[in-house]
Amino acid sequence: MTSPETSLGANAVRVGVVVETPQHSGLLGVLDYLWARPLDAGTLVRVPLGRRVVTGVVWPLDPASTGSMTSATDGDTLALHDLKAVIEVLDGLPALPAPWRKLVGFAAAYYQRGLGEMALMVLPPELRQLDDTQLQRRLKRLDKALSEAPDAAEVPPGVPGGAGADGGAGGPTLPALSEQQAQALEALAQGGAQPFLLWGSTGSGKTEVYLREAQRALDAGRQVLMMVPEINLTPQLEARVAERFAGRRIVSLHSGLTPAQRLRHWLMALQGHADLVLGTRLSVFTPLPRLGLIVVDEEHDPSYKQQDGARYSARDLAVYRARLEGVPVILGSATPSLESWHNALPVAQGGAGRYVRLDMPERIGGGVMPRVRLLDQNHVLKATMGQEPPPLSRPLLEAIAQRTERGEQSLVLLNRRGYAPVLHCSDCGWKSGCPHCSAWRVFHKADRTLRCHHCGFSERVPRACPDCGNQDIQPVGRGTERLEEQLAEALPGARLGRIDADVTRHKGALEAQLASVHAGEVDVLVGTQMVAKGHDFRRITLVAAVNPDAALFASDFRAAERQFALLLQAAGRAGRDADVAAHSEMWIQTWHATHPLYQSLVKYDFAAFAARQLEERQMAGLPPYASLAMLRAEGKTQAAAQGFLEAAALAVQDLIAQAPVNAGLMLYPAVPTPVQRVANVERAQLMIECGQRAVLQRFLSEAQAVWLAQAQQHRRSGLIRWAVDVDPLAI
Ligand SMILES: [Zn+2]
Ligand SMILES: [Zn+2]
Repeated sequence: MTSPETSLGANAVRVGVVVETPQHSGLLGVLDYLWARPLDAGTLVRVPLGRRVVTGVVWPLDPASTGSMTSATDGDTLALHDLKAVIEVLDGLPALPAPWRKLVGFAAAYYQRGLGEMALMVLPPELRQLDDTQLQRRLKRLDKALSEAPDAAEVPPGVPGGAGADGGAGGPTLPALSEQQAQALEALAQGGAQPFLLWGSTGSGKTEVYLREAQRALDAGRQVLMMVPEINLTPQLEARVAERFAGRRIVSLHSGLTPAQRLRHWLMALQGHADLVLGTRLSVFTPLPRLGLIVVDEEHDPSYKQQDGARYSARDLAVYRARLEGVPVILGSATPSLESWHNALPVAQGGAGRYVRLDMPERIGGGVMPRVRLLDQNHVLKATMGQEPPPLSRPLLEAIAQRTERGEQSLVLLNRRGYAPVLHCSDCGWKSGCPHCSAWRVFHKADRTLRCHHCGFSERVPRACPDCGNQDIQPVGRGTERLEEQLAEALPGARLGRIDADVTRHKGALEAQLASVHAGEVDVLVGTQMVAKGHDFRRITLVAAVNPDAALFASDFRAAERQFALLLQAAGRAGRDADVAAHSEMWIQTWHATHPLYQSLVKYDFAAFAARQLEERQMAGLPPYASLAMLRAEGKTQAAAQGFLEAAALAVQDLIAQAPVNAGLMLYPAVPTPVQRVANVERAQLMIECGQRAVLQRFLSEAQAVWLAQAQQHRRSGLIRWAVDVDPLAI
């Protein structure tokens, strides 16, 4: 048998490669392989790993140069003849560019994941399956397609691409700019490569600013990365991009694509063929050799944060990437995250002064935001003491009925899907709990099921109480399905429609439902937060939030911020046109009308709301004034999960003692998560807080090694998995 060294020739060299290895394997860094000649960093290769052949990325052998974690083979003196050889080099592809590797290295280090895991996770899944021959075939097919249709935009099906004016001589007719849009664009043109926070109310024309800036970058021969929270919720933005840049190559990147589409779009980006990438959070890692601009629309949206595996924030990585590549980044929102808001506040006003803020307070076309009316339930509902209150109080019902009569539309927001959150037997007290989770199963009337929204466990609704046989089991509380039913009863003659995750589960259902709203076939639209996002409803003149109070008293410190954003976004669905804007209203049904959140909302005073929230965060030592990380554990029992966390905390006492005292590094006690059991797995968490981000980072990367060893021991006592969540969104 020939050793790899001899088969590769006498000049065989050591090549560093990162491959996808499980986080707990201990192989977190760069592995050594042999090849006949040195390979450029960023080249894709196929290498043996154990008994498998896997795809890897060539990486510089000195991990320090990429900011990655220590290699398991670091300092190891494996002789050349002990190394395995690279199997093949995928050299049909350009090497992944240096900024891409830096971004991946940074993300791995910052979010406490293995370098290989991060690098391979952000490649299109199909790419990881292909050998060189298969890849060559794909590339040839792509080349052929591109040469046959040099101008075709790769827009997803269903979007009217290429319908607008061609990108040639005169270009499409552009809408006239408002004064505030012109000012924002002027500031962007002067500002150069820095982060901008575009704070514009809904309907202020943020999209036009993105499109003009994108045009500028495209004209300069650069590529544009435009990020949106959820692609199927923003069909209008997609259509506008496709129309405006009809002569350009536009590709989308999101998890809804087929593996083949996703690979093709990614290859077009890497090869520089794609001019504009429109994508969700995963697109932040798209290699773009000519990158000139990054846009993050609705930057406050929680879906920019990955919720499992490597829990990265695409918004934060976009800002890092823009700085790395020396390009501007525009974060746009009507209700910025308090982190971004703080970053855009001048130092003199107590902010961090890192971003340039561009304000666009007015709606274009003379539209005004609807008048906000707080409907105090304490006054309205006195008459119905003791009974379940009606979904909508009388004045609100009357207001909706009037709209319907006038041929106008109303939107009723209730952020809870299903018919009722729980079924209840009044004889014995039975409730529709989930046998696998510490949660209730939701009653869905349409298919008569009890469904757990945490683990998916679903059963037919029992005819009688399973415990005592009582035939009369009752729904408690109300979801959108029940609200729709109750409104249909209360508003005879009105045509009801509903948009939530249940009605839109099937492909095309959301589009169909939206189309019927636009066509005026719906008088009253009931929906969850899904309806508040992105859609532009011309005929809605009344928006009602029927049960918005829960968020006021939630334990999560970000609940108020999220609720304010949701309500303001929902309000933005009304009164887009000047002729109806004047009598558009938003009704808030509340038991807490004097709450500061609502008082700020009435005045549309986000700045005041943010100032108050920031003050509270500063007093409590919460982000953005402190950095947080969450150590999460899952176990067969709650004791196993908490036991690991407690041992983990104990094992790093030395590291905590070494941290600078003024950094305020602190570990909180281990506690069960808010829903502590899901699918028979017990979950617990331990919060880590620190006043200095750098100190927290150093602590976490040192603690990681300790916890890896700890976790091995705890597996025997029922620990299933654990992870660190840096900058957690939900706590
Ligand atoms: Zn019963
Ligand atoms: Zn369940």
